[in-house]
Amino acid sequence: MNKQDLKKRNIAYFTMEAGLDTKMSTYSGGLGVLAGDTLKSCADLGVSLIAVTLLNEKGYFAQKLDSNGAQAEAPAGWPKEEFLTLLPAQASVNIEGRKVKIQAWEYGIKGITGAIVPVYFLDTNLQENAEYDRNLTSFLYGGDQWYRLCQEIILGIGGVRIIEAIGYKNIEKYHMNEGHAAFLALELLERTKKDGEQDLHKKYDLESVRNKCIFTTHTPVAAGHDRFPLELARKALQSNLPLEMPDIFIRDNEMNMTLIALNLSKYINGVAKRHGEVTREMFPGYSIDSITNGVHLLTWAAPAFKKLYDKHIPGWQSDYFSLRYAMGIPKDEISRAHQEAKKELIDHVNARTGAGMDQDTFTIGFARRVTAYKRADLLLSDINRLTEINDKAGRMQIIYAGKAHPSDGGGKELIRNIFSRIKELKPRIKVAYLENYDMTQGRLITSGVDLWLNNPLPPQEASGTSGMKACLNGVPNLSVLDGWWIEGCIENVTGWAIGTLQSQGRDSAQDARDLYQKLEKIIIPMFYKEKDKWLEVMRHAIALNASFFNTQRMVQEYVLNAYL
Ligand SMILES: *Cc1c(COP(=O)(O)O)cnc(C)c1O
Repeated sequence: MNKQDLKKRNIAYFTMEAGLDTKMSTYSGGLGVLAGDTLKSCADLGVSLIAVTLLNEKGYFAQKLDSNGAQAEAPAGWPKEEFLTLLPAQASVNIEGRKVKIQAWEYGIKGITGAIVPVYFLDTNLQENAEYDRNLTSFLYGGDQWYRLCQEIILGIGGVRIIEAIGYKNIEKYHMNEGHAAFLALELLERTKKDGEQDLHKKYDLESVRNKCIFTTHTPVAAGHDRFPLELARKALQSNLPLEMPDIFIRDNEMNMTLIALNLSKYINGVAKRHGEVTREMFPGYSIDSITNGVHLLTWAAPAFKKLYDKHIPGWQSDYFSLRYAMGIPKDEISRAHQEAKKELIDHVNARTGAGMDQDTFTIGFARRVTAYKRADLLLSDINRLTEINDKAGRMQIIYAGKAHPSDGGGKELIRNIFSRIKELKPRIKVAYLENYDMTQGRLITSGVDLWLNNPLPPQEASGTSGMKACLNGVPNLSVLDGWWIEGCIENVTGWAIGTLQSQGRDSAQDARDLYQKLEKIIIPMFYKEKDKWLEVMRHAIALNASFFNTQRMVQEYVLNAYL
């Protein structure tokens, strides 16, 4: 960044993970992919923003599955020198009284008009640091609570310091993408301290910090809200932070990252309308807005759809709203583009798994982090019912992918359960499970299947974004009414709901029955027998949903509601 640019940039976006390039294993799933898509749209729109994240040099993990679906994990190192430039600037934080030095690597995201959003990857792997500290920026979501606490100190406190060392002196807004980054707000608060002042509310200028901070919360699931035992926090931070104001950040004798972010941010939001409501119920007394997530269309469009949009909607790449004109694209061209995307996926699946899938069979896709509430095995929960539908309504094949977090035993068991169901279904229904779900496979699966399935237990899906990638590629969704799908679902027009807002989520067996019913009575018959109607749903998915559920619209909302 040149000097002029350093002065101009006034917004800093902090995130634990960022999915920028499939070869940089610095993301684990939805949160990181959203951060990457957000930053790409900021670059496309020329927003004067910078981003801060951890280097995560050894990545999240590479997933290996044996023939029973038992997951093994290997480090997922990536060649940082190929993507990043090391900067001379350094900063440091104190952890447990030790000085931990931090350096930063720069990555430039280039937008469609040439504007750049720089991303700073923090790195503690310096010779001067203690052995333990050198590993603090190695693994994304690795290690124990202490490791995580140290990482969050590096991200929040180290992040604020190093961007100043790099030369950014005019940051007016600090955006916390999830509570992981909340220490940044304590660092800003510490700087307002007036020594000698006894009244704490005069000693610290809470209001000035709040005016600078923005907090986006991403999950109603309790485990997604970081908390640390108070002794751990005191041991790590010692006297370096305003620990004398406990009501700001301590709840139930724990350092609560969400509480810090809530108390020190003026603008707070959930990531879909329903998630905004759920968050307001979880944290009464705070003013909480919502901005519905999106995806970066240029990243997630299959080559065939990119070509199709370039031909029919010139300029769409800089104006995602214009995808509404997809209503004018001839259906046979949409069909051909889909066949191309489907072939790319089927070839990939057959090459990887030997599943022997074919191009003409109705194909269902399900890929996401594997954890209990997402109910990855719901579709396979009644094998007899599923094979009956396959025999009577029309043949199907199913493609799965997803990693379970290394310490999520329930998630790992789900994968094994799916593998055993796959064996039971052979040879009647072909089911493939792709190893090592990543952004490349995410793009292939969301664009190449005929139906995108999502059935988490409501209301735990804050938003979900993979279904938006499907829409962009004309793939209809079948999903419970949770997260973004409450806003995106128009029954029989853009896709279908599993059950109703009232029925769903009470009883998984009932949700499974509703899912089977919709497949049997409506979706599969339409796919095989009413091609024209099916293509109309595909076209509506693009025109009504891709034109709205994208990060260009989303970033514009952040600029207007949060940044300005
Ligand atoms: C899009 C994406 C996700 C997020 O999908 P959800 O539907 O929000 O769970 C996770 N992982 C990868 C690799 C993705 O591409």
